[in-house]
Amino acid sequence: MPESSRVLKRGYSDTPFLPGSKWRIHDSDRPEPPIVLAGSSSTQQVIGSPPNDAMVLFDGSSLDEWQSVRGGEAKWRLSEGNAVSVEGGTGDIRSRQEFGSCQLHIEWSAPTEIKADSQGRGNSGVFLMGLYEIQVLDSYENPTYADGHAGAIYGQFPPLVNAMSPPGQWNVFDIVFEAPEYQSNELVNPATITLFHNGVLAHLRQVMQGPTKHRELASYSTPHGPKGPVVLQDHGDPVRFRNIWIRELDRIAAL
Ligand code: MG
Repeated sequence: MPESSRVLKRGYSDTPFLPGSKWRIHDSDRPEPPIVLAGSSSTQQVIGSPPNDAMVLFDGSSLDEWQSVRGGEAKWRLSEGNAVSVEGGTGDIRSRQEFGSCQLHIEWSAPTEIKADSQGRGNSGVFLMGLYEIQVLDSYENPTYADGHAGAIYGQFPPLVNAMSPPGQWNVFDIVFEAPEYQSNELVNPATITLFHNGVLAHLRQVMQGPTKHRELASYSTPHGPKGPVVLQDHGDPVRFRNIWIRELDRIAAL
């Protein structure tokens, strides 16, 4: 701060209380937000960096943070460009650590070799808590059912847009997931998803109907714990992933 800088009063203690809050307007005692060193965005050629309070789940160097959902090591293949490729038939992989509400950044690329259409083209998925799927699919000029598109809350809600990059190029999902809450085995808050696909809003706090199902209605009838792993789906297609990081959200609302 230059010496000539004026020191101003930091807030007030004589202003009205905000509705439903213990804080006054411009309250001088209200905690300031924690400082986070922001990261950088990726381009097609260059991988960005995470914010400094994120946990890196995958940066291209190893699959140490992952294991097979069948138990044992994750058998997917590290590939060019600090990526990992689905190794068809080896099964889904899951993060070793478990998370509840979170901000998840994940980049993925559909295979350039096209062998089928609709759900047979570049299919994978990102499961929050191992239960709630955001669909990964090559939706570039590839018609399919709406709630199965890339970015869909699979089997429930299509994304607001199709912002898909062509096969071989990178897509970015920035996800905010609010974990469902149970009390005494009764649902008190359902899960929600906010998703940006390549920076374009695809879901805004969309309320999920329950853990993902195929050709069945979802429901919250089977209670589960407050945390679960991030799971990436082996649907047989060599989809690639890179630059995966996560921030746990202990609180969603401002203090
Ligand atoms: Mg899928």
